[in-house]
Amino acid sequence: MGDLHVMRDDLRPPAPPPKRHLISIGDLTREDVERLLGTARTFERSLEREMKKLPTLRGRLVINVFYESSTRTSSSFELAAKRLSADTMSIKAAGSSVDKGESLKDTAITLGAYDPDVIVLRHPHIGAPQLVARVTDARIVNAGDGKHQHPTQALLDLYTIQEQLGRIEGLHVAIVGDVLHSRVARSNIQGLALMGARVTLVGPPALLPRGIEAIRAADVVYVLRMQRERMEEGANYVPSLREYAARWGVTPERLRPGQKVMHPGPMNRGVEIDPRVADAQEALIETQVRAGLVVRMAVLYDLLTTGPVAVEAAVPTPLQIA
Ligand code: ASP
Repeated sequence: MGDLHVMRDDLRPPAPPPKRHLISIGDLTREDVERLLGTARTFERSLEREMKKLPTLRGRLVINVFYESSTRTSSSFELAAKRLSADTMSIKAAGSSVDKGESLKDTAITLGAYDPDVIVLRHPHIGAPQLVARVTDARIVNAGDGKHQHPTQALLDLYTIQEQLGRIEGLHVAIVGDVLHSRVARSNIQGLALMGARVTLVGPPALLPRGIEAIRAADVVYVLRMQRERMEEGANYVPSLREYAARWGVTPERLRPGQKVMHPGPMNRGVEIDPRVADAQEALIETQVRAGLVVRMAVLYDLLTTGPVAVEAAVPTPLQIA
């Protein structure tokens, strides 16, 4: 055996890996998405057990800060953190010091004093997650910033498509409706393209130029809500919601048998989506909500474990699950 030379540098502990955030789908590579979907699949299996809690993030603190209303995103992040045994706190702008005029920066510094591992932030302004990343030591997950990005929505949609249609690569997805105001559309267009799907955008000319007939060619029809709260006041994107429903609403007559229908919620039944479509077998809307939980568990797990984790390494052993 040859001599073994140990250099001084070899004995130094490895430098801590850089802090990772999830602010945009553009932050991720295809390998990252595949790893996250693989981890989510593992967590989905763990949720089939009677004892659903995993000890994985015990002692970690996840703070959810929501400056805009939310049902699915806020509840699934809270439950995801709890299922992984992390401590959680949820702050809503209404009822907090934001009501008293506190700035985002001061709120972030205040919450940063509790040393959170992750801050999940929803905010009406583009760039808010970057500001919080600058003034705290936490990893930031963007849960929606204005019209810009909603990366975990895109991940849960990719997961739903992968699980329900068996693949993403080569599929054709039509995104229908108010694309202009939609962070869901922006994140999904990027995510679907990254994973090799083809995307057609369909909607009224002011919101997007395409005929509703274009949806018949798609494997998946992804319906968006009319986001009136994000439209400029007085702007006339569509003559009326009645007319929008008549011309652009996704009805059974406009679909082909076997097409899958998705919607990020909340739905305006009878506006962008016909109730018969929302309640049909082909609709994956409830499946998306379930996917939201396991995908967000995967995102929290991934951000808090050092470096990329092989999917195999994420499979909890029976001991870890117990
Ligand atoms: N819930 C999604 C979002 O927060 C979609 C919507 O609001 O229509 O962007």
